[in-house]
Amino acid sequence: MVATAPGDGQRENPDRKMTDRPRPPLRRTRIDHGFAGEKAAPPAGQNVSCANDVLNSPGNPVTQCTDMKEAAPRTIRLSDYQPPSHLVQKVRLTFDLREDGARVSSWLQVRKNPAFAGEADQWFLYGEELDLQWLAVDGRRLQASDYRLEEGGLRLLDLPQTFEFSSEVLIAPHENTALEGLYRSGGMFCTQCEAEGFRKITWYPDRPDVMAPFEVRIEAEQARYPVLLSNGNPGASGDLPQGRHFAEWHDPFPKPSYLFALVAGDLRFIERDYSTASGRPVRLRIYVEPENIDRCDYAMDSLVRAMRWDEEKYGREYDLDVFNIVAVNDFNMGAMENKGLNVFNSKFILASAATATDHDFQGIEGVVAHEYFHNWTGNRITCRDWFQLSLKEGLTVYRDQEFSADMGSRGVKRIDDVRLLRAHQFAEDAGPMAHPVRPDSYIEINNFYTVTVYEKGAEVVRMQARLLGPEAFRRGMDLYFERHDGQAVTTEDFVACMQAASGRDLSRFRHWYDYAGTPQLQVSDAYDGDRREYRLSVRQAVPDTPGQSDKPAYLIPFALGLLDSRGADMDLKLPGIEAREGSLMLELRATEQTFLFEGVAEKPVPSLLRGFSAPVKVDYAWSDEQLLHLMAFDSDGFNRWDAGQTLLQRVILRLVDAFRAGSGLSVPHSLIDAIRTIVCDRDGESALAAELLTLPGMGYLGDFMPVVDIEGLHAAREAVRHAVADALKADLVQRYGELQDEGPYQVDAEHIGRRRLRNTLLAYLASLADSETDQLVAGQYAAGHNMTDVMAALSLLAEGEHPQRAQALAGFEARWGRDALVMDKWFGVQASANRASVLHEVHALMQHPAFSLKNPNKVRALIGAFVNANPLHFHAADGSGYRFLADQVLALDPVNPQIAARLLRAMARWRRFDEGRQGLMREQFERVLQSEASKDVYEVAAKSLETA
Ligand SMILES: [Zn+2]
Repeated sequence: MVATAPGDGQRENPDRKMTDRPRPPLRRTRIDHGFAGEKAAPPAGQNVSCANDVLNSPGNPVTQCTDMKEAAPRTIRLSDYQPPSHLVQKVRLTFDLREDGARVSSWLQVRKNPAFAGEADQWFLYGEELDLQWLAVDGRRLQASDYRLEEGGLRLLDLPQTFEFSSEVLIAPHENTALEGLYRSGGMFCTQCEAEGFRKITWYPDRPDVMAPFEVRIEAEQARYPVLLSNGNPGASGDLPQGRHFAEWHDPFPKPSYLFALVAGDLRFIERDYSTASGRPVRLRIYVEPENIDRCDYAMDSLVRAMRWDEEKYGREYDLDVFNIVAVNDFNMGAMENKGLNVFNSKFILASAATATDHDFQGIEGVVAHEYFHNWTGNRITCRDWFQLSLKEGLTVYRDQEFSADMGSRGVKRIDDVRLLRAHQFAEDAGPMAHPVRPDSYIEINNFYTVTVYEKGAEVVRMQARLLGPEAFRRGMDLYFERHDGQAVTTEDFVACMQAASGRDLSRFRHWYDYAGTPQLQVSDAYDGDRREYRLSVRQAVPDTPGQSDKPAYLIPFALGLLDSRGADMDLKLPGIEAREGSLMLELRATEQTFLFEGVAEKPVPSLLRGFSAPVKVDYAWSDEQLLHLMAFDSDGFNRWDAGQTLLQRVILRLVDAFRAGSGLSVPHSLIDAIRTIVCDRDGESALAAELLTLPGMGYLGDFMPVVDIEGLHAAREAVRHAVADALKADLVQRYGELQDEGPYQVDAEHIGRRRLRNTLLAYLASLADSETDQLVAGQYAAGHNMTDVMAALSLLAEGEHPQRAQALAGFEARWGRDALVMDKWFGVQASANRASVLHEVHALMQHPAFSLKNPNKVRALIGAFVNANPLHFHAADGSGYRFLADQVLALDPVNPQIAARLLRAMARWRRFDEGRQGLMREQFERVLQSEASKDVYEVAAKSLETA
């Protein structure tokens, strides 16, 4: 999947709708059998009366008897893993879809798993919220004594070695607000099964290491649901009596149940024929609701580019006759890679120049590619268990990052990825929810679709690619596909392929998977002019994290260059290591290491961790002059940017001290001069200039303070922005004018870069808030060239007291009021606006007819933007922001626990703040825990409070 990004919530996640249905009682007590399902049975007889109740009254949902006991949510552990007791060799499902429910008939061909050590005369199948109709083994209807209903599922008793299991259940998609399993969204049926949604559809060994081919038949009313889709290739279809029809689908590739998908609705499609490298024809379709049919072309182009790229880079071709994508409005995640039938949040499909920003277009390209790439990294080879989530996600994020780098600007893509990693993953790694890339325990797996598993997981794959070099890494990937096709495997299996293909010992490297926390590198150096020797020492340490201390030394790729006083890369000589284009790839493998460079003619300026060669923090005592030197001359674009960020961070943190001391906030001339050079450089890459001019975020800056001072940080950042604009106004205005694009809107790296730089300059100018700059902002908004420029201007207008503010917001609403995705932007700019009255405005916007708590995109756009993208007001000293968050979490939890839990994370690092705010946040966590919280929300609240 792709989760939605932290901050604005934009990657893959499944989602749920809200109805007025009362929540099931005591949801916290519904124990997930997770790993223990195969072994831990309650005392015999405990659930017999429950089972009888269900048999006697088919309308009685199973949840009513599984929810009877009060218990703390259970922790699932990797160390408890056992192979499945049974394997499923074939699955046949029939869905009879009706307005008041769905009838699901299932037939499974089953055999004992030869790899399972124990007795296999019993079999546990997961099932939640299923209305059991009947069960049969080898065609014989089961009696109450043949099975046992347990918490979270069903145990069949006295089984032969091989058998056929069939069953029928009723489910209620129209009441499914959690958007897990089969649900109805608007006028369509749709599924989301990752991670554990399939168990809400039928009885099944719902774990990723049980893989089977599926045959699916769907029956529904023809007029309402003319399109019936599932995984694999299409089979028979036709009419049925009473205005109904059917369609059959056959997926020959064995897959785990989390990749099952079904869609039924009144949809239109665009279509394209694709021929794979070896000449296999594939029919590509994107299905959307009728009014969106003219907004799918960019997604289709992206899909074709991704398919070609995977053939060229990895030799991977698509393997079915059809590839279908469906866009839905109510979706928890960004998108989901179900085999042959990807389901997307409409945000990551629909785009036109009038409605989408550059960022939206890039998001579509990246997410379409990500889900497509999963066909090999995730679907053909899947995870043995959910602890291995990064096996498919880290690897696939790495692949989509590389794809986007090839399609656009490689250097800028790297900066964007690292900015996200530092802002969100480093924060996660330093907080109470810290966990390894391969976690070893969880309460609710939905809480582990995290930046650590995804983005740090991608860095871990990237480091292996760096250590091995492109040829050996490709050999390792080839071996991985060859050795494990059709299997459910672990991150160890992946590393073993890299090791086998390269002949390298990667045992120290595996620590990256096993330990949480961001490694810190302390770097010191000395230059001996007489001997022309330069000595560089690196000490590595990984901080303690919840449940983990005394971590061993990792294998860390550490790229570096040395700059001379003219800014050129020095010739590097180090025995046994070959320099490439002025850079060396050192390998750190001990707690402390020293490298001696010989023949060094002058004292160098070190350029450390080039290209961000590892997800670590580097601590080196740079002088401001050295940073300015790197910022001006480093041949590594990433490090030029990074030197600038370090310098800005230092200046801002000094200003925070001045702010606290009540003294004036003055910005050094040297910084202003460096910024002038960037603004006036007409030869460099525009997008890189925009990155260089972007101030580090509040969250990232806060990490460098013993106690986060939100007001101080805000004041200091604004002081820098204002000082730059004041000193360089003429240059900024001139450059802004030069960057104006004539001609039609184009989505390519160059034009995106120009717009990004131009809008960055405008944001500086807007901080002056004089009549001339006010007019520039209003003028750009009024010109309305494209959504990127419109939104850049509108977000500046929405701040503060711009004279055109009210008029612009009203005009935008009038124009786009009926366009859900565009209105998300309108909610977002208001919720993140820096205005004293913002919380009051967010409250009012929650009553807006376009807002709905039932729609996760809306929740993220309004509530998510306030709690994640408006730190100044979310952290208001009176606690109003925290109270607001807890209110919304409590309102959402009964409806959509996944989204509620994600929101609550905004307070996870409460201990980083002053005592007053700590107390206020703790109070809200306790309030949440006193409610009947879902497992999702409970885990976030409890873990946030428990660790010191
Ligand atoms: Zn994914």
